[in-house]
Amino acid sequence: MNAEIIAIGDELVTGQRLDTNSRWLSAELAILGIPVTFHTTAADTIEAGTEAFQNAVGRADIVISTGGLGPTADDLTRDVLASVAGVPLELSRAAVDAIEARFSSRGVPCPESNRRQALFPRGSREILNPNGTAPGIDMDVTLGPRTIRVIALPGVPAELEPMWTVSVVPALTAILPDKATIVQRRIKCFGAGESAIEAMLPDLVRRGRDPLVGITAHEATITLRIAARGRNENECRNKIASTEQIIRDCLGDLVFGTEDDEVEDAAIAALVAVGRTLATAEIGTQGLVAMLFATAGASQQGRVFRGGTVRATSEADATDLAQRCRDEFTTDLGLGVGPVRQAAEGRQTIQLAVATCARVETAEHVFAGGPTLAPVRAAKSAIALVRKLGPGLPLASREANQ
Ligand code: AMP
Ligand code: MG
Repeated sequence: MNAEIIAIGDELVTGQRLDTNSRWLSAELAILGIPVTFHTTAADTIEAGTEAFQNAVGRADIVISTGGLGPTADDLTRDVLASVAGVPLELSRAAVDAIEARFSSRGVPCPESNRRQALFPRGSREILNPNGTAPGIDMDVTLGPRTIRVIALPGVPAELEPMWTVSVVPALTAILPDKATIVQRRIKCFGAGESAIEAMLPDLVRRGRDPLVGITAHEATITLRIAARGRNENECRNKIASTEQIIRDCLGDLVFGTEDDEVEDAAIAALVAVGRTLATAEIGTQGLVAMLFATAGASQQGRVFRGGTVRATSEADATDLAQRCRDEFTTDLGLGVGPVRQAAEGRQTIQLAVATCARVETAEHVFAGGPTLAPVRAAKSAIALVRKLGPGLPLASREANQ
């Protein structure tokens, strides 16, 4: 059983953007034990797309494509698939509803062009996309005696990757001939960059290792994915456990959780464990910290996170903010996030502070990364500081302090 990958997009063939999806998908297919025989990159035209798919279905068992599922006139993958399979496009009511719900949840009307994304080649299945409006397409194309599995995914890596892990991997595992069991586990880290973490794990991220370990970064959170193949789930779990232990030994408290955990879940859990409450006051992160805490660990949030304020001034410093919100919400801990300040060499910094009635600890977050990610990174740094210091800072009784 072999696979090929088709990357679709004018931005790829013109060299404006590097095709990282094919590389990522090839590594993923390797984990499943499926060899990849061709990568094809095609422009956003019916002719190029059709030729790429016709060639691929003529020689591979599995064809994975990325891109061209957007709402605009140059997004032609669904039309190409229908024509290659010789079937019409049909509107999926469920997909229309999902797309409309996504827009209405943001309070904007659904553009007519987005309804195109609810068109599916007859007989195909929808692959849900929790992070965008473009659903994926999963279909069987029959050519004489052969049936080829064709999976079309959107081009945006942050949409494609979760769709792959959640929907495509189980679907492909089910059709693999040798019925090997594949179990994956994600270890989540925060506080060091992707390459620094890779350097701390000598030998672990080597291709061909069993189990394989892959690294991905998303908004400064690093995910290490352990993928083990074995005869049964138990064998896979045992392999994963020893690799997970090596990772935890090497990375220490950079590891904050597993699977879908976010750093705010870990911070809340750390405070729940010691029964402490928290409030926030932010300038530079504009309420992002409070929003992340408010949506974290749903069952525990009310007990731990008591509220937050956002200020527009650029005057207050982080210590002052932390102490004020601690008093305002009468919590054990206050987290203050100061304003963005210009630093040397075009860098920017944000002061962070965690205050109890007995102690204040401060830290400085220096911006790396582009301007759009800056507030997210700063917010996560602030949250990581709460996770690290929040449970252990000495408390003094309010009365004793007054
Ligand atoms: P599309 O699904 O074709 O609308 O693609 C949406 C966006 O995803 C593009 O504008 C690119 O930024 C990105 N993208 C598409 N294909 C790739 C690829 N092969 N590798 C990396 N990024 C991609
Ligand atoms: Mg495109």
